[in-house]
Amino acid sequence: MIQEKKLYLETFGCQMNVSDSEKIVGLMKGIGYQQTPDPTHADLILLNTCSIRAKAEQKVYGHLGKFKSIKRKRPHLIIGVGGCVAQQEGERLLEKAPFVNLVFGTHNLHLLQEMVAAAETGKRRIETDFLDDEKRFDLYGVADTDSGFTRFVTVMQGCDNFCAYCIVPHVRGREISRSAGKIVEEVAALAASGVTEVTLLGQNVNSYSSKNPGEPDFPDLLRLVAEVDGIERLRFTTSHPKDISERLIACFAEIPKLAPHIHLPAQAGSDRVLKAMNRGYTSAEYLGKVAALKAACPGIQITGDMIVGFPGEEAGDFEETMALMEEVGYADLFSFIYSARPGTKAAEFPDLTGKEEKQARLERLQTAQKKTTLERNRSMEGTIQEVLVEGLSDSKDSLFGRTGGNRGVILEGDLALAGKVVPVKIVEGLQTLLKGEIVDPHGRE
Ligand code: SF4
Repeated sequence: MIQEKKLYLETFGCQMNVSDSEKIVGLMKGIGYQQTPDPTHADLILLNTCSIRAKAEQKVYGHLGKFKSIKRKRPHLIIGVGGCVAQQEGERLLEKAPFVNLVFGTHNLHLLQEMVAAAETGKRRIETDFLDDEKRFDLYGVADTDSGFTRFVTVMQGCDNFCAYCIVPHVRGREISRSAGKIVEEVAALAASGVTEVTLLGQNVNSYSSKNPGEPDFPDLLRLVAEVDGIERLRFTTSHPKDISERLIACFAEIPKLAPHIHLPAQAGSDRVLKAMNRGYTSAEYLGKVAALKAACPGIQITGDMIVGFPGEEAGDFEETMALMEEVGYADLFSFIYSARPGTKAAEFPDLTGKEEKQARLERLQTAQKKTTLERNRSMEGTIQEVLVEGLSDSKDSLFGRTGGNRGVILEGDLALAGKVVPVKIVEGLQTLLKGEIVDPHGRE
């Protein structure tokens, strides 16, 4: 009997990494590895890393230290590091962590099977070359088909925007779009395997295909994907506010399958700070797009990101951020204190605001947002929402699903409803979740 090989995979950071990890699981299955939640039983440990936050490299080296001790007991164990930190560190990783067998960059997933096979024969390998054509999407159709009813589908990678604080263009390379035909093919295959919701994924989906004149642009792509049989619901992320077009906004009114949710990161509410960030829009322009979205899709849930304490942010700038937040009424907001990423432009900016002041600003912003989120969740009480049931809740004693607006809902019901969209009456709005009751237990096929 051939013994099953075990993969332990840890994923850090953004949705792009989550999506890449789904591909990694599929690729590793293809060469005989099944996932395990326990690294001490693994034959292969892969870390899919992220360098968005400060001290990302130290965190990765810290993690690798833990795995080194497992390798002492399991000498055949293969350890690999991928993602943005691997892209940045490259050879340094193999030097600083000699027990690591392979390092793969953000464009090299398609080589992973052969890299692991080589590691099984004792070879160490590093692949961090940037690819500037569609080859980087090769094997993107390979995904773990057992992981539920919702799936990310990569439509583009990289970014040309060079926001002053952001490491992404340095570690993910320049923007490149995948052909619409291949995307639709992948979505159709996912639908055939039972997936009912897809999220089209890219660093800036609004500029999808901008370098491919004559090809479908992003609004056209949404329409093509919405036509795929079996797909009930469609989402996308992330949108750059400067690039969201009237045609894309109109899609929320015109494509019934397009979920009424958009993640539209403002990052700041002060024009001075937005300029220093190189964001390419003013707060008025941002608010204009928000107003157009609300007009096209009343009830749309808007989420965002906000950076507090960007170099040069003064008290008045922060007040403008608070005012913008209030006007938008975000359903949720991911907010952070700015931290310099080496290699970015903002890392060279003088930063005179003290740590305590930044912390106080963040706490004020987060307290205000918590209040807004709770109010918005409570305002949904008594409404009927279309909920896609994803499976069991974390506690395993209820079902978990999501509204079109991407709010998580706990509800009672039969697990056989998983994958279906059911009408649910919201009975309670909590801070992070909604509680609901199914109105029609048979769901909508
Ligand atoms: S748009 Fe700006 S923040 Fe987003 S990935 Fe590109 S450079 Fe980074």
